[in-house]
Amino acid sequence: MNTGAQQTLVICGHGMVAQRLLEKLVAQPHQPFSRIVVFNGEASPAYNRIQLSALLAGDAKESSLVLKQSDWFRQHNIEIHQGDPVTAINRIDKTVTTTSGLVQEYDRLVIATGSRSASLGIQGEEMAGVVGFRDLRDTRKLINISQRHRRAVVIGGGFLGLEAAEGLRSRGMSVTVLHRSSHLLNRQLDPTGGALLEDALTARGLTIRTRTSPVALLGRDSIRAVQLDDETLISTDLVVIAAGISPNAQLARDAGLDCDRAIRVDTRLRTSDPTIYAIGECCQISDQTFGLVEPGYQQAEVLAQVLCDANSDAAFEPSVIPTRLKISGIPIFSCGQTQPDGDTESVVWQDYETNRYCRLLIRNQRLTGAVLFGETTDGLWYSERIQQADDISPIRAHLAFGKHYCDAA
Ligand SMILES: Cc1cc2nc3c(=O)[nH]c(=O)nc-3n(C[C@H](O)[C@H](O)[C@H](O)COP(=O)(O)OP(=O)(O)OC[C@H]3O[C@@H](n4cnc5c(N)ncnc54)[C@H](O)[C@@H]3O)c2cc1C
Repeated sequence: MNTGAQQTLVICGHGMVAQRLLEKLVAQPHQPFSRIVVFNGEASPAYNRIQLSALLAGDAKESSLVLKQSDWFRQHNIEIHQGDPVTAINRIDKTVTTTSGLVQEYDRLVIATGSRSASLGIQGEEMAGVVGFRDLRDTRKLINISQRHRRAVVIGGGFLGLEAAEGLRSRGMSVTVLHRSSHLLNRQLDPTGGALLEDALTARGLTIRTRTSPVALLGRDSIRAVQLDDETLISTDLVVIAAGISPNAQLARDAGLDCDRAIRVDTRLRTSDPTIYAIGECCQISDQTFGLVEPGYQQAEVLAQVLCDANSDAAFEPSVIPTRLKISGIPIFSCGQTQPDGDTESVVWQDYETNRYCRLLIRNQRLTGAVLFGETTDGLWYSERIQQADDISPIRAHLAFGKHYCDAA
């Protein structure tokens, strides 16, 4: 292996987390890599994936999504290969091979391949007019179809599905959302919050069906209808599949790295091969995988230190990550536990006039969860209480009214 500043770092994937890693790497005082080579599956430069929802809704332009201009990569001597995904890792020779046939040696390899839309495993998913909602190509396809057709079915009432549905609705489509669980955003909201959201979205013109699953997508060349488990048929010109994500771990699996649902790493982001690391949505720590960008950013920060300083004791600690969303302009916040169980008590505050709602979950006088709908200003303050496990008994009566009331109390 090379030593000192002769080392080559190869990064496989150039999404939001890989880009954050590059920014953190170039900011490190000690630079062990003489070459940094990045291979990206997508043809476009790294972009803000979160903004795809705004792009679909017509609230952002493609050009505004780009994370760094090409000058930045030149300035930091980073080689980017767009649209040339890695197809194999040879751990004995320490090389990666790409679709174009290029073979690149590495001293350290980082896998940051993200995830893809999870497949439903039902008939008809390959048909024209059935689209995921993951990348720029999907989004361009959705915009194109929305300009030519009128009806859409979105499968999945999580945040991706609802953002897709709202985007298509704002482009003039008539949209039905199908959701398997009993309430929308069931990972972030409790049933009351989910019901408030359903009412608000229905009032804006979406059709929402909960407790239902598609069993087949029907059509000859392109999608014509969705068949539900109760045999209802919904005619449509477009189906968006937004029913969860699957980590892109096959490359690592084929290379013999230890994988479960995703690529297993330790808290220093190291895989079962000490020269290979994984970060972002493709990695798994203990039994936790990640579907939001914030933990990926924290991992990028830790990995930059680990790669640049062998003596660094940096480690990623999976923590309670708050979720802050805006669905159709409605602010939503959740952190920690969202549903009460046998050990928890709930403090609930609801304003029926303004549709604001707050549920706080408490165990042993410690806040364990917060669900906020309509008004989320105090979200981060609640998440600090959850993380610090403060005794809330002195402020319990004021807790649902937020930080200012509690400070005054
Ligand atoms: C529409 C949408 C809205 C979202 N909104 C939010 C939000 O509001 N808040 C939030 O926290 N998160 C949101 N997310 C999730 C967030 O975008 C992800 O958590 C984040 O992008 C994960 O970053 P990543 O780098 O791990 O993966 P990605 O950003 O997916 O990047 C992985 C990259 O690796 C490439 N790749 C895959 N295989 C290979 C290969 N073999 N070789 C080379 N390259 C490869 C892929 O093409 C991709 O470009 C949203 C996601 C979507 C799709």
